[in-house]
Amino acid sequence: MAEVLARVREIKLFIDGHYRASSENKTFEVYNPATQELIANVHEATKEDVDRACQAARRAFEEGPWRTMTVKERCAKVRRMAEIIMERREELARLEALDVGKPFSVAYEFEIPRAAHNLSFFADFIEHHPSEMYPMEEEFLNYTRYEPVGVAALITPWNLPFMLTTWKLGPCLATGNTAVIKPAEPTPLTVSLLGEIAKEAGIPDGVVNVVQGFGPNSTGEFMTTHPEVDLISFTGETSTGKAIMKNGADTLKRVSFELGGKAANIVFEDADLDKAIPTSIRAAFLNSGQVCLAGSRILVQRSIFDEFVDRFAAAARQLKVGDPQDSNTNMGPLVSKEHYEKVTSYLQIAESEHSTLICGGKRPELTEYLKDGYYLEPTVFVQEDPHARICQEEIFGPIVTLIPFDTEEEALQIANSTQYGLNGVVWTDNLQRAHRVASKVRAGTIWVNCWFVRDLRVPFGGFKKSGIGREGGHHSLEFFTEAKTICLALR
Ligand code: NAD
Repeated sequence: MAEVLARVREIKLFIDGHYRASSENKTFEVYNPATQELIANVHEATKEDVDRACQAARRAFEEGPWRTMTVKERCAKVRRMAEIIMERREELARLEALDVGKPFSVAYEFEIPRAAHNLSFFADFIEHHPSEMYPMEEEFLNYTRYEPVGVAALITPWNLPFMLTTWKLGPCLATGNTAVIKPAEPTPLTVSLLGEIAKEAGIPDGVVNVVQGFGPNSTGEFMTTHPEVDLISFTGETSTGKAIMKNGADTLKRVSFELGGKAANIVFEDADLDKAIPTSIRAAFLNSGQVCLAGSRILVQRSIFDEFVDRFAAAARQLKVGDPQDSNTNMGPLVSKEHYEKVTSYLQIAESEHSTLICGGKRPELTEYLKDGYYLEPTVFVQEDPHARICQEEIFGPIVTLIPFDTEEEALQIANSTQYGLNGVVWTDNLQRAHRVASKVRAGTIWVNCWFVRDLRVPFGGFKKSGIGREGGHHSLEFFTEAKTICLALR
């Protein structure tokens, strides 16, 4: 671990194929959320640095060879990045656990392999993408080319830093665009290594640039207003999406937004609770509830409500909260002091709204080593009023609210009552009801009797204020390419 850490003590900007210091030598600090220990000093990209990164990405796009090399050649390099990620799997998982506070086992088993798959999947997908041809009798032939758009700004949040960045970088690179990446300021470690990984994979200088810094009036805003940036792929809060859209409007940037969520996890009385409860626990507390797809509102039919509450709370109490690096840990701390304060403020809000606390709601008892970490026990409330703030607002922490309902219509009304529409979950043994409810919940993904399962070819994104556009398979391809029609006279 010490050796791994030594490599990221000082994080520089990766611009035009080289790590370099901030032009004003500005740095900020990053802490381990489990202990508050300093992990790294990070160089903050100034306006000049962002300009340098965008100009490098523009040159690499215009002058090649990235855009002009064969798809096969380009995708081989993207696939090589995926291989290097798997070769460095343990190191990347250790760093992700350290930086975000997530259990090492989750990063190692799921997120780092998925990050590698994000790259190899899009390399395969684009390499085998069929071209369209429409002959018009014997006289004309129409065909379509999908060409890269240009320089992409990829801006990502702190909850799944490496996984979400590669999810954007895979289709961006495989289609021939160049990228300026900005990870979130509390969690820059793993994404900072993408520069050297790209270089080792043979990706030309300037194609992948990584800048570090904050959002408003800082690195993020400099990117989204930069004239050389053609498109912005952003994942983060709904309010940030609005600011980015305004900032990108003057230069008419193409945007793809994956924003917040407040999923309804609906449990009908005929559900198999032996499956629904453990999966709902995972949906509520994975990554300390810091997941956009978290099932943070659990709507339970009244006839089974009391049984569900008892069994759910008993399972929540069983979760082992502790050191993210320990392989027995189920739940780590929250990501930062600022976020801890936001999440714990909902404990008072819940109380003022007369929610009933079933379990949690305080700092767990932990070892001396973790005494300063941003920990909160898995917390369960019952709230009858679905319009209470804890039922409407994205808390993004280990706080879940159980809401009773009587009829299917009522469940649908509650499910659709928030500004969000990212995803939903339905638990029932009744096939007709499953389809009926799935078709009426206004959200981009509905899981029936499961959660967080995905084929990367399917569209992913949000209804309402949960996003604009879709990612995945040909949906990502559409975002990262310009379709060009060529019509050829055959006589
Ligand atoms: P955030 O919006 O605060 O920050 C995300 C990124 O945007 C960071 O890199 C930040 O520095 C940058 N940023 C902030 N203001 C900016 C500005 N004005 N201009 C340019 N960049 C700016 O989000 P967060 O707190 O890092 O992440 C949590 C949020 O992300 C939650 O709302 C969660 O639901 C959402 N999220 C959504 C998905 C999804 O797929 N829909 C996935 C993960 C997280």
